[in-house]
Amino acid sequence: MPELPEVETVRRTLEPAIGARISSAWCSGLGLHMGRKPPLRKLRALVGATITGLRRHGKYLLLDTDRPQSILAHLGMTGRLRIVPASEPRVPHTHVVIGLGARDLRYIDARRFGQFDVVERATESAHPALAELGPDPITDGLDPEALHALARTKRTTVKAFILDQGVIAGVGNIYASEALWRAQLRPTLRTHKLTAKTTKALIAAIQEVLRRAIENNGTSLRDFVDADGSAGSNWEYLWVYDRLDKPCPRCKTSIRRAVHQGRATYYCPTCQAA
Ligand SMILES: [Zn+2]
Repeated sequence: MPELPEVETVRRTLEPAIGARISSAWCSGLGLHMGRKPPLRKLRALVGATITGLRRHGKYLLLDTDRPQSILAHLGMTGRLRIVPASEPRVPHTHVVIGLGARDLRYIDARRFGQFDVVERATESAHPALAELGPDPITDGLDPEALHALARTKRTTVKAFILDQGVIAGVGNIYASEALWRAQLRPTLRTHKLTAKTTKALIAAIQEVLRRAIENNGTSLRDFVDADGSAGSNWEYLWVYDRLDKPCPRCKTSIRRAVHQGRATYYCPTCQAA
């Protein structure tokens, strides 16, 4: 599943769409996440509008137009957004096509867990998809005091805490494992045990692993390719994720794997003892 760095990689590869005028809109008619269909009528109402910017909050992308509306997109598990020549045949599982003159912006999603909507920019923070999200760790930053105070109110593990999209938007399973290794924190540590100092270290680690992954164009997962169709190169830079029994890059202890709440966690039993 794409996480924040992969979505940021997609955002950057879509930047050539800025300045383009929307010339048409088409939808497959099939429902995406929760069976919700992309809003064809609202997309068609944007024909004639110009794309003025591309923003990201967590794993959500927002395509701003010169009208009061923006197009909201979430890639779900297997979604891809690509800019291709309009003459290129549509591949299977294409669900949204936004014509940009000689080019198309196409949304392809085999498993259909993605989201597509048109939002009013003035009230976008109240949109159900965005209202529940915590701050974006890269574009908004994270406030150590606020995060520490929030951690003390939760009865959960530090891994579940940083995966909670209402706490921090965009961190998923891969980068949660990576950040906890970097901060030298045990994934099962209870959040009320976080101190002001370890909270700061955790924030620094989250931002470092995300920035590093963005620099490497996201992690290449089975279904993830960026908007150009090219795979990311961060996979070889991961410290612990999917490295069972391989040596910890810091202390050479074998990396362990555990399953918490149905999700694999990779950690070093020696240097993540805190
Ligand atoms: Zn270690």
